[in-house]
Amino acid sequence: MSSKSGHPPVGGQAFFTSVGCMDGRVQKPVAEFGRSKFGAEYPDTITEAGLVGLLALRNPEQSLLSSLEKKINISIQRHNSRGIVVHGHEDCAASDAVSEKQHERDILKSAELIKLMFPGISVVPVFVKRKGEAWTVEEL
Ligand SMILES: [Zn+2]
Repeated sequence: MSSKSGHPPVGGQAFFTSVGCMDGRVQKPVAEFGRSKFGAEYPDTITEAGLVGLLALRNPEQSLLSSLEKKINISIQRHNSRGIVVHGHEDCAASDAVSEKQHERDILKSAELIKLMFPGISVVPVFVKRKGEAWTVEEL
C-alpha cells in the first residue's frame, strides 16, 4: 500500500458556525459565504426566528443566551469550528417593523455579544440581501 501524504480537500471535515434567523432562504447563501470565508465545508446552524433582534434587546432572555452558548460551545469544542457567521436578512418575517439600519445595528450588537462570550474565535457579522429570488451576503 502506498501512503499518500497529500493534503485533504479544502474544508473536508471542517466546520464553521452559522448563527441567525431560521428563514430557509438564507441558509444556503450563508453556508456558501462561510465556506469561502473559513475554508470550512459544514455549517453548524443555530437559528431562531429573528435571532439578532432577540439578542440585541436590552435584556435578552437568559434561557436564549444559555441555549445559544451551549450550542456554540459544542460547535467550537467538538467540531473545532473555524469561525462564527452572525446573520440577519432582508424581508425577515420576524423583524417586519425594523428598518434596515436598525437591523444592521442588531446584527453588529449580536456579533459583539457573541465575541464577548467566545473571545479568540473569529466572529463575522453579515446582512443577507434579497435581489428577486437571489440572495447575497454582505459583510458588515
Ligand atoms: Zn428572518
